Amino acid sequence: MSESTPKHGYAPSQQISHRKRSVESWLDSTCAVHAGTHDDPGTGAVGTPIYQTSTFNLGAKQYAAVAGGTARDAFIYTRYGNPSQWAVQEKIAALEHAESALVFSSGMAAIAATVLTFCQPGGHIVASSELYGGSYAFLQTEVAGRGVRVSYVDPGDLGAIAAAVEPDTALLYFETLTNPLLRVLDVPRVAAIAARAGAKFVVDATFSTPMAMRPLQHGVDVVVHSCTKYLNGHSDLVAGAAAGSKALLDAIWPRLLAYGGSLDPHGCYLLERGLKTLAIRMQAHAASALAVAQFLQAHPKVAKVRYPGLPSHPDHALAAALMRNTGGMLAFEVGDDAKALRLLDGLRLVRQATSLGGVESLCSLPCNTSHAVYGEDGRRALGIMPGCVRLSVGIEDAQDIIADLGQALEAM
Ligand SMILES: *Cc1c(COP(=O)(O)O)cnc(C)c1O
Repeated sequence: MSESTPKHGYAPSQQISHRKRSVESWLDSTCAVHAGTHDDPGTGAVGTPIYQTSTFNLGAKQYAAVAGGTARDAFIYTRYGNPSQWAVQEKIAALEHAESALVFSSGMAAIAATVLTFCQPGGHIVASSELYGGSYAFLQTEVAGRGVRVSYVDPGDLGAIAAAVEPDTALLYFETLTNPLLRVLDVPRVAAIAARAGAKFVVDATFSTPMAMRPLQHGVDVVVHSCTKYLNGHSDLVAGAAAGSKALLDAIWPRLLAYGGSLDPHGCYLLERGLKTLAIRMQAHAASALAVAQFLQAHPKVAKVRYPGLPSHPDHALAAALMRNTGGMLAFEVGDDAKALRLLDGLRLVRQATSLGGVESLCSLPCNTSHAVYGEDGRRALGIMPGCVRLSVGIEDAQDIIADLGQALEAM
């Protein structure tokens, strides 16, 4: 092999440097399709090959990377890094306008590695009182078990967030858009609180996606995603990601190695393929969700609808200021949980399933899934009223989704 076709792998930045230069000026859809994706240097095949391998040929470059502590930047072993991972990492970094990104085997793997990087025993975290159940359980068990204290605060109460900060606060952990009530976090203001405290600010942006906002531009240090949801978008993969500065991602990477949360090459391929349509999918999700929300709001059997794109949503003005796309998630109330369950049983097109962000509409109840452990009183305290239904509006024709909801509401 000649010098120009290196035998021992390639540095991803060298391979796709021409893309990197263009990325700066590309808009969302172009980034989604092209950033990170690279043609096969050997055959000229268009699109990133699936590098289905666990290991790579070693040479002087790889040994130097191990000796110099820069093994993340060389291909040695797939838990450390793989070109299939780098392709999707570069794409996510481009979409988030981040210097660097990592992909993980699940959203929880990304969240766990990121949170553990920024908290030390004896330290303190200020976290949202409205977190994804898995994240809350992780803070309560794994993080608290390491001697880290966590204060939970109402994400809509900036005064309470500022008041919860202590001298030992190392991390503020919030979600950009909450589940199931779709409350919008005032990201720039919380970032200012974190900066004053000298604490890191991490947000889970799974519900908003980079098509709604790029949290790093508002002062967030690291943004994490469950790519299982909108980023992959087809309900056929579990994956996660973190994006931020290279220095912070280099600091998170050792936890990815230690806890083994790397994404396999075939999963990377699926995620890269899903990401290519993120921009147009989010436009379709948001347009249909608004139409469905307007239909539900006018329906006599629906007490209340929560969708940030509706003027009736308490955070509508904040959503208008911060979000370019109000997404596909909405919640509505039908009176009591028994009725809500009858509604779900009556659906024919919309699937009764947990998760969200796929091309197919999915409907579930907080009372028997995500918020079952809280009990009715606990849910009321969070503002989740009896009969609350969560809907992930897919990319089917809005008229068909509306017709299905309409017949299920009549039968309820
Ligand atoms: C699903 C989800 C997670 C967890 O992601 P997994 O990919 O299931 O590990 C974290 N945060 C939010 C907001 C989620 O919706």
